[in-house]
Amino acid sequence: MINTHSHLFDTQFDADRDAVVLRAKAAGVRRILMPNIDVSTIEALHRTEAAYPDYCFSMMGLHPTSVSENYKEELSCIERMFGTHAYCAIGEIGIDLYWDQSRLSQQLDAFETQIKWSKQLDLPVMIHSRNAFEPVYESVARHSDARLKGVFHSFGGTVEQAKQIMELPNFYLGINGVVTYKNAGLRDVLPFVPLSRLVIETDDPYLAPVPYRGKRNEPAYLSYVSSALSEIYHVTVVEVNEITSVNAIHLFGD
Ligand SMILES: [Zn+2]
Repeated sequence: MINTHSHLFDTQFDADRDAVVLRAKAAGVRRILMPNIDVSTIEALHRTEAAYPDYCFSMMGLHPTSVSENYKEELSCIERMFGTHAYCAIGEIGIDLYWDQSRLSQQLDAFETQIKWSKQLDLPVMIHSRNAFEPVYESVARHSDARLKGVFHSFGGTVEQAKQIMELPNFYLGINGVVTYKNAGLRDVLPFVPLSRLVIETDDPYLAPVPYRGKRNEPAYLSYVSSALSEIYHVTVVEVNEITSVNAIHLFGD
């Protein structure tokens, strides 16, 4: 399995990160991709990547909930990082109107700036969209071309929205522990999306799958996502893991 979205560098793992990585390896996670949040998390991100070479890989970007007054300075600081370090994607980027609707224009500007970088650098985008499918989709569709590729991470939208994403070449849905929640509409939506357009993720330390719902999530719990998908698609867990790994490698490289 390839875990395409983990915040293993989060302080919640400071006390037992080595044990968490051992459990991930034992569970069959062969690679962990880590999206950045903002300038304040870069050091921990790089430190975690360096501690687990050839296992943890960093993305670089500015998260929409970190877009504040000084976002242009944050963006220029983040842009400079691309000249000093190799990254597997631009992330996580997008629009989040769940907590605060007042910064839509700044979030849009930060998002589109980073979409442009992804094309210049030929890197995929890891997209965070919360209560914001319309503006996010509109931006991506407007910039869509043969080079633009990426993931709508933690997808929890409607059949209609999933179908819209399927119309964008080189875009995938990122599925996490939410798929194990009884009330999640995802089980009714996924039958309209082929496995060939999915990647799997945990989004730890958040969104722990059943039976750990409400507790700290960790990369090893990716196997619960994979099991849920094997039930929904009526294929073996091995097939889910193979197909989603091929998809992840196609996007993020080998
Ligand atoms: Zn995240």
